[in-house]
Amino acid sequence: MPEYLYLIIGLAVLLVASLAGLVTSMRRGRDRRPAPGAPPTAPTEPRVGDDAETPRDTPTRTVEDAELPPGDTLTETAPAPTLERPESTAGRLVRLRQRLARSQSPLGRGLLALLSRDVIDEETWEEIEDTLITADVGVTPTQELVARLRTRVRVEGSASASMRDILHDELVTLVDPSLDRSLDVDRRDGRPAVVLVVGVNGTGKTTTVGKLARVLVAQDKQVVLGAADTFRAAAAEQLTTWGERVGVPAVRGPEGSDPASVAFEAVKTGVEQEADVVLVDTAGRLQNKAGLMDELGKVKRVVEKLTPVTEVLLVLDATTGQNGLQQARVFSQVVNVSGIVLTKLDGSAKGGIVVAVQRELGVPVKLVGIGEGADDLAPFDPDAFVDALLGETV
Ligand code: GDP
Repeated sequence: MPEYLYLIIGLAVLLVASLAGLVTSMRRGRDRRPAPGAPPTAPTEPRVGDDAETPRDTPTRTVEDAELPPGDTLTETAPAPTLERPESTAGRLVRLRQRLARSQSPLGRGLLALLSRDVIDEETWEEIEDTLITADVGVTPTQELVARLRTRVRVEGSASASMRDILHDELVTLVDPSLDRSLDVDRRDGRPAVVLVVGVNGTGKTTTVGKLARVLVAQDKQVVLGAADTFRAAAAEQLTTWGERVGVPAVRGPEGSDPASVAFEAVKTGVEQEADVVLVDTAGRLQNKAGLMDELGKVKRVVEKLTPVTEVLLVLDATTGQNGLQQARVFSQVVNVSGIVLTKLDGSAKGGIVVAVQRELGVPVKLVGIGEGADDLAPFDPDAFVDALLGETV
């Protein structure tokens, strides 16, 4: 055989072998999925045209099917807080009567006992005057009341059955039932009402803001709290807790931050959330009048860039007597007080402060604190208050 024939046969064998190899590799490329049971292959880079999703070989498990890990690996989650439903305000002042019954209020029953004597002589009238002054009523209102009582006793006699009614009438007149004691807490011009709560630390200011939030929630109002008492360390925390109990948000800043900026943020939140009312707790440092004026003045000015302040409530502790009146004077010179909240009336035998402070400032007592309980804040009602002072008929 000639040599060139061997060469042709060799080339033909080589050609067939390389064709066979090409066909096999094309088949493998078409079927890249490994055969069941085959060892997994290392992941490769996706290529153009590959499916974006990984194929679902196993059916999706439902929640019921999924096995839970053993109990001890689960972390305890706190139960969702249940919101409290605050008590409605009607009749809250009635509780004051029970509380005062323990405190031997000289203003109520003391007066009634004196007026029920068989003979009301000059000495008795002096005792009546002393009783009123001791109960913080103030000199001028005391003289007015005694003059009116003298006239009525002279005209109507001093039969003890009617004495309670006379005293009741005259005390109500003294407290002045004609004053408007409503709170301006309604939205206006599409903006929330803003209530600034001012007063010296320790009077019950923060507690009052918390209790007032509950009063408003009970009236189905949407409330935002502003913790602008950034001076007292625990105040913001305290207020946040009050809010959480009734689902009311509290806006707060870092301790020692600018009260005006916290107040501003709170009112801004109230505007954004379309709240009905923003209650702002303020710091009650009374180291000097100028400092207080600067601070409260700034809070009011800054807040009023957004919307007007509708109420400035001054919180006074009923047990502090003349000291409370002095504080009232200073605050009223610094801000335009629109209403007074008299706290701790339950612990005071001197309800006369209601009369004195109204006269002093020319603004009405709008709310009274009647205990440490969450719902121990009552709208002030002269008739129910005098009833509480007089206690049960003797
Ligand atoms: P703030 O420093 O003025 O904000 O004072 P707080 O709100 O912290 O209150 C001071 C204390 O007064 C707290 O122990 C309150 O529970 C208490 N307090 C507030 N209001 C009343 C009230 O109407 N009656 C009684 N008995 N205690 C009150």
